[in-house]
Amino acid sequence: MKLARAEVVLVDLHLRTPFTTSFGTASQLHRPFVVLHATDGRRGVGEAPTLPTPAYKPEVDAPAVLTSLGEFILPSLARAQARDGAFTDVDRVRASYAWIKGAVFAKSAVEAAWWDLTAQEASAPLWRIWGGERRTFPVGVSIGGKSVADVLTLAERAVERGYQRLKVKIWPGFDLEPVRALRERFPDVVLQVDANSAYDLTTWEGLRALDAFDLLLIEQPLYDDDVYYHAQISRELRTPICLDESIHSLRDVDVAIALWQAGAGTERLIVNIKPPRVSGFAEAIVIAKRCHEAGVRTWIGGMLDSAWGKAFNLNFNGLPEIDLPGDHFSPGGAYFMDDVIAEPLAIHDGQFALGEGAGPGVDLDWERFERLAESQFAVDFAH
Ligand code: MG
Repeated sequence: MKLARAEVVLVDLHLRTPFTTSFGTASQLHRPFVVLHATDGRRGVGEAPTLPTPAYKPEVDAPAVLTSLGEFILPSLARAQARDGAFTDVDRVRASYAWIKGAVFAKSAVEAAWWDLTAQEASAPLWRIWGGERRTFPVGVSIGGKSVADVLTLAERAVERGYQRLKVKIWPGFDLEPVRALRERFPDVVLQVDANSAYDLTTWEGLRALDAFDLLLIEQPLYDDDVYYHAQISRELRTPICLDESIHSLRDVDVAIALWQAGAGTERLIVNIKPPRVSGFAEAIVIAKRCHEAGVRTWIGGMLDSAWGKAFNLNFNGLPEIDLPGDHFSPGGAYFMDDVIAEPLAIHDGQFALGEGAGPGVDLDWERFERLAESQFAVDFAH
């Protein structure tokens, strides 16, 4: 596939319901998207699902992603094509910018745009290209509320819509109460919590009280860059620990598997695979397979993605190695007031069904996209 040009735009997205985590409340997002123009006129689009600040992880904010794309990643991609000719596979795309450390969200947007072009060229759905087999699967929601009343209202909305798995954001001082309230109200729902690294070695013991509520998992209670201490506290908790922020690559997963094999046991380790957090879908596929072999359960995490980014994640959920429902949806339906696809993603009885359409299976609405997007810069490729 020969590329003519790469353009980076910022898309304005307004959340219908503000989303609260241990590090703040978001209501408006400026999202970088990469548009790769092939020489045959096709356009591939990839989203970098940034947050307003680097409070979740380094380099997940829009300014960092724009710098990485404009200064390093896209010029490297252009140089690789000028030197070696058209891109024939994803490995060559990834190799062109492998020298750049980190920048996982920025890299994943380029890779997603490349996968979009690949699927168009093959006239095949992404899930099939990635080795997916499951066409229908249950999906869950992520709830970020500021009070127990907020959380209960959002959970009720989600359960009414048929979702069978709820995830709720917690932090020290806001953990036992929302969990107890949710469990009393919904005794049978699959329930999990996400701390986004809000606890430390002095406060984590408060999480012992959650063992009484039959939670599926406790996600990333400790430091964003830690695996070791998570493995240590997992020996002390009955509820499995799920790693999110601290997993960037297959190597990180291998370290986690070794630590849990020597300690709490791999049945008490779960991995949230966020394709952008591991630099793209190619790495996410090998991670899903490795976890499956080792008896570590996985699911697909979301990042307040637009419907376009969500559609990619839903295709990824078609892999048979993915065990648990992902958090692709919000309790109130669509995340944003105005999104980049015209038809909202539909679920029935808490299940999503993948189609046979080429690419992510939804059509980007170019008129809306161009209305919401502001061009930032472009890189021309020699061809
Ligand atoms: Mg998380």
